[in-house]
Amino acid sequence: MTAHALAAVGPVDLVFRDALILDGSGSAPMRGDVAVERGRIVAIGPELQVEAARTVDAAGLALMPGIVDSHTHFDAQITWDPTLAPSPALGVTTAVIGNCGFTIAPCRPADRELTMRNLTQVEGMSLGALRAGIDWGFESFGEYMAQLRSKGSVANVAAYVGHSSVRTYVMGADAAKRVATADEIAAMQAIVRDAMAHGAVGFASSTSPAHNGEGGLPMPSRLASDAETAALVGAMAEGGRGVYMLTKGGHTKMPFLESLAASTGRPVMVAALLHNSTNPSAVFDDLDAIAAANARGRRLIGQVSCCPLTMDFTLASPYPVEGLASWKPALGLAGDPLKAVLADRAFRDGVRAELKTPTTFRLFNSEWDKVHVVEVAHAEHARFEQRSIAAIAAESGLDPLDAMLDLALADGLATVFTAQLLNSDEVAVGRMLNHPDSIVSLSDAGAHLTFFNDAGFGLHLLGHWVREVGAMSLPEAVRRLTSHPASVLGLEGRGRIAEGCSADLLLFDPATVGRGPKRRVHDLPAGAARLTTDALGVHGVWVNGVQVADANGLLDTPPLAGELLTQFG
Ligand SMILES: [Zn+2]
Repeated sequence: MTAHALAAVGPVDLVFRDALILDGSGSAPMRGDVAVERGRIVAIGPELQVEAARTVDAAGLALMPGIVDSHTHFDAQITWDPTLAPSPALGVTTAVIGNCGFTIAPCRPADRELTMRNLTQVEGMSLGALRAGIDWGFESFGEYMAQLRSKGSVANVAAYVGHSSVRTYVMGADAAKRVATADEIAAMQAIVRDAMAHGAVGFASSTSPAHNGEGGLPMPSRLASDAETAALVGAMAEGGRGVYMLTKGGHTKMPFLESLAASTGRPVMVAALLHNSTNPSAVFDDLDAIAAANARGRRLIGQVSCCPLTMDFTLASPYPVEGLASWKPALGLAGDPLKAVLADRAFRDGVRAELKTPTTFRLFNSEWDKVHVVEVAHAEHARFEQRSIAAIAAESGLDPLDAMLDLALADGLATVFTAQLLNSDEVAVGRMLNHPDSIVSLSDAGAHLTFFNDAGFGLHLLGHWVREVGAMSLPEAVRRLTSHPASVLGLEGRGRIAEGCSADLLLFDPATVGRGPKRRVHDLPAGAARLTTDALGVHGVWVNGVQVADANGLLDTPPLAGELLTQFG
């Protein structure tokens, strides 16, 4: 519609005046106005001759499409919290849930407790919060989608069907213990087909050894044979739609993933490509392999993160080391039995030996100078706060693992440590972010709630990587947060400021945009804690033309303006 025609039909709902418009395409910004009517962008241009019910003076500010977060874990939270806190206030207007295949649908009533216990272990979600919070008004994937649709959400949502849930639905507790029979694989295929028919964005899975469930058993998808995986990705692709998303363990080889991309013609999204200072070329080997596959006509893409992976933890639940095979004797234990294992010399020697063995991917890599004591429980240990384990060990003449475990044991396992694990080499991460075959992702929003919070990854890209480091231009960063993920996921009509597109918009100040420091709040069901961050430099967020956040954050009782996305290009 032209501006002239708009004037003829009367006032539009909303117009932004004099914004620096970053349209998501990556091209240079232009100054002008954007008009919105019934949730869509209807006109863009300098000094639009149009009346509007509401005018936003955007002079001195930038307007971009809302951020598409392709890697979240809001599957459980969304059933009690339609605001998807904290993501929309951090500029996210579309969240993709079900990553890594850790979903809550389908789920038989008898498997609910196991599903919640698995999520507690693998994604660091409080069991008390899950038990008090999840609304189990569904069994099948279709029923889950119907519940999401009827409850609504502040942001748009697209959902993967998750391999571990599908496997548990068919195999029960055996899903974490053995390979599937041909009949079981056929039953899983039927569920994947049904989920795609109900609007799943694709099929998500994990083969990562970091992904353990209840009692330290592997998450179910890790037990899948290549034949099972190929059968399920094939079922996903039958309708010519869907993205296969995988968090890859070191034993899953890129040629296998390329063969799936080739046989299905569907995009394959590979996570989690994080830079590891002790094996610095591994992530570039993966990206090179992806680039080579793409040169042969496939569509593979590597999920990379613009945030250093830093986790807060206690030895009662030490996620950074729970993926070690040698940590197994401690998994699933609590209280005195756990303390006995942590004190055991043979256990500690086993961990030390494993940490010395080279491997392709490991969360924690003996970088003891990057592990710090945040907070102690007993006053007599206060002198250790803010010091690194490397420094504490050197001073006491102890081995660093002994120093950390001895302190934790003396402190009732309540000592809070923080570990900078991966992705902290800024030169390397800058290369990964700019790689043509990477996608900026991996916020893990909704998961690991007490360990870290990267829901503000998009604001961090704009503030840190664009403004502070200069590793990327502003238009390119905006493209990587908007039209790029939208096109990979098939979100048609989103991720762009263009006539006819949905009015998912983020108004911000490029001079101040960023994410604030993390802080702890206790607002989950049953009073459980989570880390959160506030937006910096955000002036407003609109979802489908409806404002949901302003300069003070999420509006009080924000409108449930999001759509459940079920149609993909
Ligand atoms: Zn994940």
